[in-house]
Amino acid sequence: MDIGRLLFLSVAFVTHAVVGYALVRGFTGVDQRTGAWLGLGFGFAPDADFLFPADWGWPFVHRGITHAPLFALAVVGGAYAVSRRRSVALAVALGLGSHIVIDSLSTMGVPWLFPLRLSWNAGLDVHGPIGTVLLWALSIGVLASRTDDVSWIT
Ligand SMILES: [Zn+2]
Repeated sequence: MDIGRLLFLSVAFVTHAVVGYALVRGFTGVDQRTGAWLGLGFGFAPDADFLFPADWGWPFVHRGITHAPLFALAVVGGAYAVSRRRSVALAVALGLGSHIVIDSLSTMGVPWLFPLRLSWNAGLDVHGPIGTVLLWALSIGVLASRTDDVSWIT
């Protein structure tokens, strides 16, 4: 993998995690430590599909099952079943949901109707420089307006 692709993916991974963190901290009642684990972790989690071996095929490919709303609903249900806390289920939903929505806006899209192999996309360059700056600005805005997490910059 060339350095440009590695940099692009790294920035996209971190951006998904930061958006997940901001949404979880801004819109759930979980504490900062739990918010960090759930927001950063589930904001990034769908891209763990990069670890699937190439020969597994559909749906275990990048932007396959882990980017499907049906899969996200199953994980949210599982999180609630295990934790019995609505705030944890909401945090998981915000982390996974933000990732799926952001990726669905990109040119590659996500399988909204999984298990059907159809995808829709808005064709936006959400992981390009402008999209990345906007997502970081929105995340910092959520954190600044709804938490004390970035009080050092205000
Ligand atoms: Zn993704």
